[in-house]
Amino acid sequence: MRKTAVVTGASSGIGEATARRLAAEGFEVVAGARRHDRLDRLAAEVPSIRPVTLDVTAQESVDALAASLERCDVLVNNAGGAFGMEPVAEGRLDDWQRMYDVNVLGSLRMTQALLPKLVESGDGVLVMLTSTAGLSAYEGGGGYVAAKHAQRSMAETLRLELVGQPVRIVEIAPGMVQTEGFAVTRFRGDEAAAARVYEGVPGPLTSDDVADAIAWSVTRPSHVNIDRLVIRPRAQA
Ligand code: NDP
Repeated sequence: MRKTAVVTGASSGIGEATARRLAAEGFEVVAGARRHDRLDRLAAEVPSIRPVTLDVTAQESVDALAASLERCDVLVNNAGGAFGMEPVAEGRLDDWQRMYDVNVLGSLRMTQALLPKLVESGDGVLVMLTSTAGLSAYEGGGGYVAAKHAQRSMAETLRLELVGQPVRIVEIAPGMVQTEGFAVTRFRGDEAAAARVYEGVPGPLTSDDVADAIAWSVTRPSHVNIDRLVIRPRAQA
């Protein structure tokens, strides 16, 4: 039976590229996100991708996905995003709540729901998509920086708690990646402002660059744990 990989946030950007890449590596891929139309198009192109409507902020949605799986060998906690660019002193509580709910608690819900299956697999791998924003701070980063630090801490703690069990925990921390959605949600839909971000760093990473790193990490021999990969565009300080 082929190994199964679950990728959250697979309807665009890094998640979509990762779903394609893991399918090419021979995994059955369960691709989850809220925009089912986009997942359907992806699945029509790649037969080993199964589209599943998933909202990582809703426990019942996460539980339904977990119940539908016969097995899970790889979980990629990718769903996430940044909402707003205000200084901390002016940060909106609803933005911070949303960033925590998707990035941090979304990853926690998925992890709790699928960890038993990752252990059962005998060679499970959990990938946590953090960011260079989880390694330092920057002005206007506020809630996103805090959420990505929290995800990193969750991954580190989990790895310690699971030492001795057949599960590996991998953190992938990209710098600037040019994706469709990320900068746009950060600038509240202002596409011109989003485009200017990428002008500041010529040669941002692509989603495929990150998908490559994920695919490499999850296909190492089972005794090899890649704790963390930090991947930046060459031009990013
Ligand atoms: P995109 O906006 O292109 O993709 C985000 C994905 O998350 C979408 O597929 C979206 O799907 C999904 N998503 C959002 N909310 C939910 C939810 N509640 N339930 C399920 N899925 C959800 O951004 P990226 O590809 O750039 O970002 C992917 C990950 O990479 C994020 O965790 C981000 O923080 C991280 N990252 C991005 C960087 C960048 O520069 N782009 C740099 C470092 C890290 P849908 O709306 O259909 O639900």
